[in-house]
Amino acid sequence: MIQKIKGTMDILPGETPLWRYIEGIMREEAEKYGYGEIRTPTFENTELFVRGVGDTTDVVQKEMYTFADRDEDRSISLRPEGTASVVRALIENGKCSDPMPLKYYYIISCFRHEKPQAGRSREFYQFGTEMFGSHSPASDATAIALANSVLRRLGLKNVKLHINSIGCKECRPKYREALVRYFDSRKDKLCDTCKTRLDKNPLRLLDCKNPDCAEGAKAAPRTTEHLCESCEKNFSLLKSALDGMGIDYVVDSSIVRGLDYYTGTVFEFIAEGIGAQSTVCGGGRYDGLVSSLGGPELPGIGFGMGITRLILAMREAGLDNIEGAKPKLYIAAMGESAMLKALSIAERLRKEGVYAECDVVGRSLKAQMKYANKISAEYTLIVGDSEIESGKAQLRNMQSGEQTEVELDSFRI
Ligand code: ATP
Ligand code: MG
Repeated sequence: MIQKIKGTMDILPGETPLWRYIEGIMREEAEKYGYGEIRTPTFENTELFVRGVGDTTDVVQKEMYTFADRDEDRSISLRPEGTASVVRALIENGKCSDPMPLKYYYIISCFRHEKPQAGRSREFYQFGTEMFGSHSPASDATAIALANSVLRRLGLKNVKLHINSIGCKECRPKYREALVRYFDSRKDKLCDTCKTRLDKNPLRLLDCKNPDCAEGAKAAPRTTEHLCESCEKNFSLLKSALDGMGIDYVVDSSIVRGLDYYTGTVFEFIAEGIGAQSTVCGGGRYDGLVSSLGGPELPGIGFGMGITRLILAMREAGLDNIEGAKPKLYIAAMGESAMLKALSIAERLRKEGVYAECDVVGRSLKAQMKYANKISAEYTLIVGDSEIESGKAQLRNMQSGEQTEVELDSFRI
């Protein structure tokens, strides 16, 4: 038997109502905040992600699904995230000179060759948003408020917002120096990956999962103590904005985010009780990204929310019991002409907007009624030769047992 690829999943009809419920809330909330949906290709030129995500990141170095295109000498990758593609689309479609801000959202699957475990898969689903054209912390607060309101509407209470600022191109170099100095003095205690990160991407040492590195990170210099005046002011304004909007948060200096393009505000929403992969949403500001991909200087702020992890959190909180639509009517038929009649009644009702089903298997009447029960039909109708002759049948309310006589060709439900 051929099996699915490790780290991918089948989402069956029993589970899709929950997915659609979650996605529906994401769409509604995004649109309330003025974001419009964008759809970009599943694969792009590898170069886009190398430049957009950063060639020092694990995502680019170890996790991308990269392959040679069949007919051209070109390297292609499945998207490991959504932001780089949105920025490319923005530049390519000449949107950078539109009135600002530009606000986009998407619900996509992303691909990363990671070690599959609870909350971590190789194809995963993400709700992402991007806002371009504002340096103001008002835009950071808006992005965070949108993520927050999705989580609140889903009923998730044990999810905490952690915020931090990792500085800009003015203050980051000095912070970086302080960080390298600190970790250099305890280099022998670092894991091998962090030893190499020390030169290339020292900020990443702060979110290493290795226990010794994590211990060392606790006493490391904090970004928030090295911010320039403008970053300091923005961060403080963001906090006031969140306070004013009634959004709880903690300042957490270990939040640095995995991707290279972040500047200034970074944040994560972390769920309790769902194990090690507990970041349900991560995001931040990326003021240099648009220009580094060939566009104008255009600041941006966005986030990605992992749908699989949200579902784990909803399950943990008992919020995952979302059922699909139930049939309004099941028509049981006895014999061939009754079967034809049932098909035509069901079709007439569906055109009127009713969810109606009838037997297509050719089961006995008893088995049909058992099936009607199993699919929780609200009403049933039994059609046999005598019903066809009289043009009338008994419509039965399955809950109350109450029966009403109806005209087969004209009844409404
Ligand atoms: P993590 O630190 O958990 O690896 P990340 O920083 O790599 O996350 P992002 O690239 O910011 O994650 O993606 C945004 C969100 O997408 C994450 O917060 C998480 O909820 C989800 N996510 C990321 N990678 C995976 C994965 N392999 N499987 C399932 N969900 C994922
Ligand atoms: Mg990751």
